[in-house]
Amino acid sequence: MTAVCYIPPMRLLRSFLPAILALPLAAQPSATITLKPGRDPGQAIDEEYTRKIREYTTETFFNSPLTDYLPASKTVPTPKVVLGDISGAPGILPYSTEVYKYMRMLEAATPRVKVFSIGKTEEGREMIAVAVASEKLIAQLDENRARLAQLADPRRIHFDDAEADRLVAASTPIYYITGTIHSTETGAPTALMELAYRLAVDDSAYVKAIRDNVITLITPVVEVDGRDRMVDIYRWHLAHPGQNWPSLIYWGHYVAHDNNRDSMGLTLALTRNVLNTFVGWKAQVLHDLHESVPYLYDNTVGDGPYNAWIDPMLADEWEMMGWNNVAEMQKFGMPGVFTHGTFDTWSPSYLMFIAATHNGISRLYETFGNGGADTEERTLRPNEYARTWFKQNPPLPKAKWSQRDNNNYEETGLLTGLAYFSANNKLFLHNFYLKSKRSILKAKTEGPAAYVFTADDPRPGAQADLLRMLQDQGCEISRAKEPFTVTMPGKKPRAGRGGRGGANDATTDGEAPKPEEKPKPEPRTFPAGSYILRMDQPYSRIADTLLDYQYWAPNDPQKSIYDDTGWTFGELGNVQVARVTDVKVLDAPMSMVDGAVTAPGGIEGTGSVYLVNHNADSALMTLRYRFPAGDFQASEEPFEAAGKKFNRGSFMIRGVGASDLGQSAHELGFRAYAVDAAPAVKTHPLRAARIAIMHTWMNTQAEGWWRLEFDRLKIPYTYISTQTVAKDADLRSKYDVIVFGPGAGGNAQAIVNGRPMFGNPLPWKVTPETPNLAHTDETDDMRPGLGFTGLDHLQEFVAKGGLLITASDTATFAVTFGFAPGVSTSPARNLKVTGSAVRSKIVDGASPILYGYSDNLAIFASNPPLFGVSNMAGGGGGGGRGGGGGNQRATGRGTEDDPDIPQGRLPAEIPEEPHAQPWEATPLTDEQLRNPVNVIPPAARPRVVLRYANSADLLVSGLLDNGGELAQHPAVVDATLGRGHVVLFSNNPFWRAETKGSYFLVFNAILNFDNLSAGRKLASR
Ligand SMILES: [Zn+2]
Repeated sequence: MTAVCYIPPMRLLRSFLPAILALPLAAQPSATITLKPGRDPGQAIDEEYTRKIREYTTETFFNSPLTDYLPASKTVPTPKVVLGDISGAPGILPYSTEVYKYMRMLEAATPRVKVFSIGKTEEGREMIAVAVASEKLIAQLDENRARLAQLADPRRIHFDDAEADRLVAASTPIYYITGTIHSTETGAPTALMELAYRLAVDDSAYVKAIRDNVITLITPVVEVDGRDRMVDIYRWHLAHPGQNWPSLIYWGHYVAHDNNRDSMGLTLALTRNVLNTFVGWKAQVLHDLHESVPYLYDNTVGDGPYNAWIDPMLADEWEMMGWNNVAEMQKFGMPGVFTHGTFDTWSPSYLMFIAATHNGISRLYETFGNGGADTEERTLRPNEYARTWFKQNPPLPKAKWSQRDNNNYEETGLLTGLAYFSANNKLFLHNFYLKSKRSILKAKTEGPAAYVFTADDPRPGAQADLLRMLQDQGCEISRAKEPFTVTMPGKKPRAGRGGRGGANDATTDGEAPKPEEKPKPEPRTFPAGSYILRMDQPYSRIADTLLDYQYWAPNDPQKSIYDDTGWTFGELGNVQVARVTDVKVLDAPMSMVDGAVTAPGGIEGTGSVYLVNHNADSALMTLRYRFPAGDFQASEEPFEAAGKKFNRGSFMIRGVGASDLGQSAHELGFRAYAVDAAPAVKTHPLRAARIAIMHTWMNTQAEGWWRLEFDRLKIPYTYISTQTVAKDADLRSKYDVIVFGPGAGGNAQAIVNGRPMFGNPLPWKVTPETPNLAHTDETDDMRPGLGFTGLDHLQEFVAKGGLLITASDTATFAVTFGFAPGVSTSPARNLKVTGSAVRSKIVDGASPILYGYSDNLAIFASNPPLFGVSNMAGGGGGGGRGGGGGNQRATGRGTEDDPDIPQGRLPAEIPEEPHAQPWEATPLTDEQLRNPVNVIPPAARPRVVLRYANSADLLVSGLLDNGGELAQHPAVVDATLGRGHVVLFSNNPFWRAETKGSYFLVFNAILNFDNLSAGRKLASR
C-alpha cells in the first residue's frame, strides 16, 4: 500500500506556507510528523514473530505501535533465520559473525540494503556498515555522496548559497547508528538486525517515509573483539547454571569502557573505522547506543557545560531531536524516557562526538540492559525512579525486564528519531551546509585564524605525531614556504591559577604579577618550514577543541563531572603550539602537506660513533629496541660535538651499521651525527631492558593505554599478572623492569588479596566454550591476587636490582607495602583535579628520568595521591606545611616570629629549626642522629625528580580547585630498595594517547634502570 496520508514535509510547506519559501532554509520551522505510527493494515504480518515479540515483552507499555508487530515478507529473511528465535529473545546473544551473516542475507534479498566492510579490529575481526534506504537511494549512493561532499566543504562551491540550496534539494542525508561499543551493553546488535529488516520491508507510511528520505547507516557492532568475548562469557553462564560467571575483564584488545574515550587520540581501530566512515560518507548524524540507565535516556541534550568549541546551531539541533524523541515516546505511554540528565557535554572524547566536531549531530541513547539476555526482576534506586521536571513518566521502581523490552525501546527510539529527521531532512541538510560554512568562516569570525607549529620545535617527532593525528581527524596541514611574522596577543600575568584556595605556597617563584599591567601585542616570526593549521577549513572545530586550553570553573553548577576536564594536546604532548588570531597568517606563503606529516631524519657526517640528541621524542625508545644488541651509552652531562649541542642523556651508539641506522633515522624521524670518537663526557650504558607489564585480574582498563603505546612504539614486553608473580620466585632472572600501570582495581590490599574467594572459580581462558578469550592473558581463576608470596617475590625482584614502575594507585600500593622507604602518600582533603593538565617543575634535572626534558612539562592528573618524602624510615619529617609539624611557635608573648620568653630566668637562645620545601625531606636533626636506627642512609633516600608547580602556575587546562594542596608536592619520585629502584608517578604518564609528552619519563626509567642514581648529589649526613 502506498502512503496515502504522508505528505513530504517540504511539499507541505510549499502548499501551505508559500511566504516562508522566501526565507533561507534554516529559518524554516521544523515539520512535525503527521504520519500515524503503526502497521499498514494492507501488509501481512509475520504472525509467529509478532506473537513472540508480545510473549517476550514483559509489560504492554514496554512496547510501541512501531515495534509490537513485524511485517511479513516472502523474500526477505527475518533475524530468526540466524538467531533461531526473534531479536531480543531470552538466552540469545549472537556473535558478530552471526550479525554480519544476517546483514549480508538482507543485502542478498533486497536492493534496499547494502553492506560495506569498514575495517578490521586489533585482533583482525571485521567491522561493517549497513546502508538501508529505498532501492532508488541505494542505487544512487555515490552520486548522493558526491553532492554531500560539496555541502561538507563549501569552498568547493565557492560559498554559493544558491548552489547549496540546489544540492540540498537533490540530496538525502545520512543517519549513522552505531551499536554495542560497550561490550557489557548487549542489546544493540539484535535491535539493529531487526531495525534493518523493518526499514527494508515495512510498507507502513511511517517507515516508508524514513526509507525514502534518509539513508540509515548501521554499524551493528563497534567493539567487535569485546562483543565476541562477551558472548563467550554469556554462553559460559548459560552452560553453568547456578554458578557465578567471570566478569568481562578484557573488552577490546587494550581498553574496556574507555573505548568510548578515544575520539581525540584516535588510537583504537574502532574509532578510526567509525571516524573514516562518518567523514567518508559525509554523514549528518552519529547516534551511538549504550545501556546503563532505565529505560531510555536520550542524553543528546544532557546537561552543561557544553563543549565550548561546537557551533551553537548544534546545541539547537540536540534540543530539537532530543525533545521530539521524548515527546513521541511519551505519546506511546512508554515510561522512563527522558533527555535532560547529569551527562555533561564537555569532553569531546566520546565516539558520538566525532559528529559534533565534524559538523554533524552527535546523539546517544542509554537504554536499560541486563548485561546479557536473561529476563530478570530489576529493582531501581530512588534517584532512578524519581519523577523530575525532565522525567515526567519515570521508570518503575521494580519491574521484570527482558532483552526484548530493551530492543523495543532501542528500536522505537530510533524509529521516531529517524521519522523526525527524515521529515526535516532538508532542514538538517541545510544546517549541515551552514555548519560546514561557519567552520570555515571561523578563522575570521571568532577565530583563531590558525594554529602554528614552529619549525624549530626541539621535538620534531612529537610535533609530527600530533600533526598526523590532526590529519587523521580530517584536518588539512600546510607548511610555510618562507618565514612569516604575525602579531601575537601579549601574555597576561597569571594569578590564582590554582583555583579557589590555590595561592597557598610555602614559597613563590619570582615576583607577584601586577594585575593592572596591560599586555602588549608582540610580533612573532615563525621560520620557514613551520606547519600551519589554517582554521578556514571545514573541520576546524576538532582542531580548535584539541589544541585550545580548557577551563572548568571551580564553582560551575555541574557537580557530577562526567569525565576529564582538560586535554590540551600541545601541552600534554610536549609540543609547541601557537594559537594565532592575526588573520595575516592566512596570507603567509604556504603549501598543503601531501600525505602524512613525518619528522625529518638521517645521518650526518662519517665515523663509527653515532650521536643522537635526546629530545624526549618517543621514536628514540623505538630506536633503542630496534637494535637491542647495539652498544648504546647515555651521556650524564650535556655536551657539544659535530657543531651541535646535545642534551644530557643523549645517545652514543656503537655497533650498529650505518645503513641500518640511516634507514631507522628516516623511518623514525631522528637525526644522528657520526663522529670518529665519542666526546669526553661521563656515560653509562643505556640498556634494552627486559620489560614485563603486570596487570591484576580485577581491572585492566588503565594499563591498557600503556600496553597500546608500547605496542605502537614496538617496545617488546612480556605480559604477566599478579598471579604470575605469585608463582615465580625468580623474577629478576627474567626481567629488568616490571611496569605496574595504574587502575589496578581497588586499594592496595585488594591488589594483594584479589577478588573475594566466595563461590566457584572464575576462569578466563580459551576453551571450546569460550574460544574468544584469547590474545591477552589467561587464568583458571581470576579471584586470587598477588598474595603475600607475590609481594615477597616482587620485593626480592627490586632488591636484586630490578626496577618497579608504578603510577597513581599502584604507587600507593608500593608505598603501603614498604617498597619505597621514606615515601608517604596521603589522599587529598579538598583538592579537586578532575582529569586536568597541570604544570610540573624539575627538582633534580640530573636524574636519568628527566633526560631530554626541559622544564615546565604539563602532566595529566586525576585526583592524584599526594606524595611526601622523608629521610626517616616509616615516614615523618616531610617537608613544609603539614609535614614535620612542631615547627610553629607555641602560644605566649610576642608576635609569630618574635619568640616567647619564659619569666623568671634568662632568655635561652632558640636553635634554628630545619626547614624544607613541600617536595623535600626535612634535614635531619642532631637528635635524630643520636641513635639513627630509623635514618635512611643518604644513597637509599627517595630522590624527588619532578614536582607539581606552585599554585599560581599549577593549572594548565581543566578543573583545579584547592590546588594549594597539590602545589609543590613531589610528582615523580625515584625510591631505592636494596639494589633496585621503585619509580613512583603521582600523575598518570600514559592516558588515552593524550599524554605523549610524559611517555619518556617512563622510557628513561626503563633504559636507565641500572643507573638511575646517576648524577645524584648525596646529603652529607
Ligand atoms: Zn556504554
